[in-house]
Amino acid sequence: MGSLTLPRKVVVLGSTGSIGLSTLSLFEESGVPVEILALTAGRNVERLIAQARQWRPAVAVIEDETKLAALKDGLAGTGVRAAAGAAAVAEAAAMGADWVMSAIVGAAGLAPTVAAAETGAVIALANKESLVCAGPALLAIAKAAGGSVIPVDSEHSAIFQVLQPDCAHRVARLILTASGGPFRTWDKAAMAAATPEQAIAHPNWSMGAKISVDSATMMNKGLEMIEASYLFDTPEAKIDVVVHPQSVIHSLVEYTDGSTLAQLGPPDMRSPISCAFAWPDRLEWPAARLDLAAYGQLTFESPDLDRFPLLDIAREALRLEGGAPTAMNAANEVAVAAFLDRRIGFLDIAAAVAGTLERMNSLGNLAVAQSDAVENAMMIDASARRIAAEVVAQKHRRL
Ligand code: NDP
Ligand code: MG
Repeated sequence: MGSLTLPRKVVVLGSTGSIGLSTLSLFEESGVPVEILALTAGRNVERLIAQARQWRPAVAVIEDETKLAALKDGLAGTGVRAAAGAAAVAEAAAMGADWVMSAIVGAAGLAPTVAAAETGAVIALANKESLVCAGPALLAIAKAAGGSVIPVDSEHSAIFQVLQPDCAHRVARLILTASGGPFRTWDKAAMAAATPEQAIAHPNWSMGAKISVDSATMMNKGLEMIEASYLFDTPEAKIDVVVHPQSVIHSLVEYTDGSTLAQLGPPDMRSPISCAFAWPDRLEWPAARLDLAAYGQLTFESPDLDRFPLLDIAREALRLEGGAPTAMNAANEVAVAAFLDRRIGFLDIAAAVAGTLERMNSLGNLAVAQSDAVENAMMIDASARRIAAEVVAQKHRRL
């Protein structure tokens, strides 16, 4: 039985998060012989130490420099090097791995993902914010270095799997499925009073706090429209969203002849991770299989743009191009952090993103094209964060 060559040397950026854990779990369950060059974390030093003790990477990196002493202590006698700081995370990304899992949350993942892209590695991209922030520049860097970016986001993995490379010009629509999140059936008054605990209790997926809130506001689907547009070079007008509460159909591609192809599977992120790991081969591992009869029925509905305005705001940002997607993403990160911190209410997230974009636009700050260079995107990101912090502070004072 012939088998294509699987990646051997890997780096996992964001190993202590939900996607990082799923990645290591997949390695364990599938028994693939990987050599882990680096594991990186943000602040969870205990979990990083435990992972490094199990997987024995060459280096374990913690972004929070105040935790370096604890990391060194925890790794004493293991031979695993300890490092700290954002620059060390980017260095770990560029260690020369065949395959890099990009699973840091937020635009903080951009610099390490770019560093990995510059080495020509295959990048398994979970960190959608880096694409939204600087997608065209990031993809160009990967291409120029002879590497590739394979989506891990389940919707984009689905599209990637059913997109026929020879028929890209025959795509009529990319159709992203959305679970609708925990507030799919809530009215606006209930949403206004929603707590962080309620927002992060996702019905189908267990994920990090930030993306869980994004699912609850449906900004996640907005970010994913932009991600899809960049990854598959498809204009906004050809990208649709349909709510599918069971999260079994992960997305669809409609062709010009009226044929629509979909990818299905149980909601388990190890499935798209395994696809990104083995592509164009497939792994054989004890994955849960889909039992359609057990589901009985799959249902679909249109998203409610009145209760989930961020979907429209994201569509508009994509239409505007320039720095709008970058600024929108940054404002959303600031607003979600404020909501999780109980400084603003749930519906204030969308209002803060809209308010930031308006101010950025009136200052002429959106005219800079983020596609020009990663540095431009980082500048827009920084100025949007400053403005978003002011907008959030105003809302907080009013609460
Ligand atoms: P988590 O919050 O669970 O994990 C985030 C990871 O990033 C952690 O390892 C965290 O470290 C690390 N991190 C946070 N901030 C920094 C920083 N400033 N510098 C370096 N590392 C940092 O998020 P998820 O795993 O849920 O999501 C990761 C990415 O994947 C996101 O972009 C998300 O949108 C995307 N994604 C996630 C899915 C999911 O099912 N979870 C599905 C599709 C996409 P620590 O915890 O140690 O602080
Ligand atoms: Mg997704």
